[in-house]
Amino acid sequence: MVRKRPKLIKERVPTPERPVEERVKSFVEVNLGYDFASAVKEAERCLQCPVEYAPCIKGCPVHINIPGFIGKLVEHRDDPNKAVKEALRVIWGDNTLPAVTGRVCPQEEQCEMNCVMGKVGDPINIGKLERFVADYARKHSIEDELLAEMRPSVCGKGKVAVVGAGPAGLTCAGELAKLGYDVTIYEALHKPGGVLIYGIPEFRLPKEILDKEIAKLRELGVEIKLDHVVGKTVTLEELLEEYDAVFIGTGAGTPKLLNIPGILLDRIYSANEFLTRVNLMKAYKFPEYDEPIAVGKKTIVIGAGNTAMDAARSALRLGSEVTIAYRRGREDMTARIEEIQHAEEEGVKFEFFLNPVEFIGDENGRVKAVKFEKMKPLEERDKKGKRKIVGTGEYVTLEADTVIIAIGLEPNRIISEEATGLKVNPDGTLVVDENLMTSIPGVFAGGDAIRGEATVILAMGDGKRAAKAICDYIEKKRKANA
Ligand SMILES: Cc1cc2nc3c(=O)[nH]c(=O)nc-3n(C[C@H](O)[C@H](O)[C@H](O)COP(=O)(O)OP(=O)(O)OC[C@H]3O[C@@H](n4cnc5c(N)ncnc54)[C@H](O)[C@@H]3O)c2cc1C
Ligand code: SF4
Repeated sequence: MVRKRPKLIKERVPTPERPVEERVKSFVEVNLGYDFASAVKEAERCLQCPVEYAPCIKGCPVHINIPGFIGKLVEHRDDPNKAVKEALRVIWGDNTLPAVTGRVCPQEEQCEMNCVMGKVGDPINIGKLERFVADYARKHSIEDELLAEMRPSVCGKGKVAVVGAGPAGLTCAGELAKLGYDVTIYEALHKPGGVLIYGIPEFRLPKEILDKEIAKLRELGVEIKLDHVVGKTVTLEELLEEYDAVFIGTGAGTPKLLNIPGILLDRIYSANEFLTRVNLMKAYKFPEYDEPIAVGKKTIVIGAGNTAMDAARSALRLGSEVTIAYRRGREDMTARIEEIQHAEEEGVKFEFFLNPVEFIGDENGRVKAVKFEKMKPLEERDKKGKRKIVGTGEYVTLEADTVIIAIGLEPNRIISEEATGLKVNPDGTLVVDENLMTSIPGVFAGGDAIRGEATVILAMGDGKRAAKAICDYIEKKRKANA
């Protein structure tokens, strides 16, 4: 689309947010997103770089045609429903969960980091525009119209089992269903979504929105079998007998814990347990929901990734004072910038260069303080580019009646311990080749199960790539058997 652009508009159109004093009392969503008029205004700032070299597309792991969808909002600005329908059609070509990715992707490190507007002012607010398109389409039933157009007319090319209903599994299933395959997802929990349902809180990703994104897949014909633990309820071998191929997207849901004195004291949670109780079991609505959660007056969260921010902001909403203690410095934190800013605005305190060495308990076996060694940074950097740190031999003790440990996650070994021939790396991730096929022919894998803890969009990218590889594998097998 060629447009005349009289001048560069350097500042992005802001999105409204719920005021701090209101949001810390509830789990309602913090950012309120664009309306149509403000979305068009932001879309008009885009320079419409040619698709062949638009740097934003290169920065997106699933290569969404970003200028393509943004251009549709401007092109059809006089007809909002048409503008959104055309924009969503472009997005769905590459990404079936835009309401999710628009909310949780670290855009500042991906598409938006590459946007040329970032060189002269603010990069285009790509994530919020993607979210706007998905939200508007859902509210105005535009998704239903598009789904009817997309539903495959021919099924029965083959049967595929997908293990795990996180972003990797859901994307792989959606892509295969669009290609006409008969797909069944096996999920261990009683709800689909993976980390999106049990890890990321409502105030970042409302569950109603997630449920609707997943409902679209069911519309495309994907069957989801819940409460099925592959490796226990059904084995990989049994799946291989029934299906032409299997995709493993079981994530990295096993928490790493600290092997230091006092770890078994009461009210020390792994972030996974804490967030699962709060998000999946809705413990913040206890006693309306059965699941309880005990949070005291002073909570220390150990770690500084997205999981730590989510745990800290959840504990704050349950009425606790919260401090994040991190063994490195501010610039080494791995959480999204937006989430760190939100945590700070809401009153979460940060302590840097503190490494926990002991949990101290009271006479009832409940945690009452954490002893930390003070750390200092070195010039030298580790493999991930972070400054190395060393202990100073000085210690500090901080009071806490609740501790949440968020120092990382690794894949569970339920399937790999049961399935003979499935090769696993020492850290529990599955070994795959360049087509994402594991050591067992016909079994593919992606997402955190092969990368360790990573991001939603990388998991989705794997799901998409694996769907293509599965399709090629089944076709090749069919030709060989013909
Ligand atoms: C609290 C938290 C916040 C995060 N915030 C962000 C963020 O803001 N942005 C971002 O990009 N990333 C974020 N991440 C990381 C992101 O969520 C993950 O990288 C992503 O969810 C990985 O997707 P996946 O499909 O590989 O695995 P998962 O989302 O972990 O899904 C795996 C699914 O497989 C199921 N499963 C496991 N074993 C079996 C089995 N044997 N049989 C059947 N089912 C099984 C699990 O129950 C789960 O539903 C966050 C992670 C956490 C924990
Ligand atoms: S790089 Fe920025 S300005 Fe160029 S097309 Fe992408 S979003 Fe628009």
